[in-house]
Amino acid sequence: MDNIIPITYLNDFVFCPYSVYLHQIFDNNEDIVYHAEPQQTGKASHRTIDEPKTQKVKIIKGIYVLSYELGIYGKIDTFYPDEQRLVESKYRITAIYKGYYYQIWAQYFALTEMGYNVQELTFYSISDKKTFSVPVPQQPQYQELKQHIHTILHFDFAKPLTVNPAKCAKCIYASLCDKTNSDHVYA
Ligand code: SF4
Repeated sequence: MDNIIPITYLNDFVFCPYSVYLHQIFDNNEDIVYHAEPQQTGKASHRTIDEPKTQKVKIIKGIYVLSYELGIYGKIDTFYPDEQRLVESKYRITAIYKGYYYQIWAQYFALTEMGYNVQELTFYSISDKKTFSVPVPQQPQYQELKQHIHTILHFDFAKPLTVNPAKCAKCIYASLCDKTNSDHVYA
């Protein structure tokens, strides 16, 4: 695995480590090959919010961020520099999973390393327009994130995997995964 990994791996790995392996394999394929309908819907929704018609407040959208210290890179959704607020949008949020925290923490640390001042972190659930505020990470969260990245970098993807059929049913890689015979529920 590369020493600098995409921020999306942080959440994918929590969901299922093998999905990170599959992500690497199919990285060069067209998204349509393996993205299930909800993901396509989510992407379309992201495009909608990525392309505002008019802007009255200063907004930074979809820029790449990079942290050399953590070894991660990726895109942020939205940053409001005047409010110093970072927003991570997802199509539908019913709970703030640990993987979501790792994603927004990584974005936060990358932005601050790049010189931005970030004072507020929020998730935005596009489908029901709900906003969830989460605390700005401190040193313990930084160390936890660093450990998570270390675990991903040193994970042995060849070792036996405990498959969770409930997760496979929701996994965008299920139809391509050799660990399950079930297709994802959206196929
Ligand atoms: S289909 Fe199941 S085992 Fe395969 S990557 Fe997805 S969650 Fe993991």
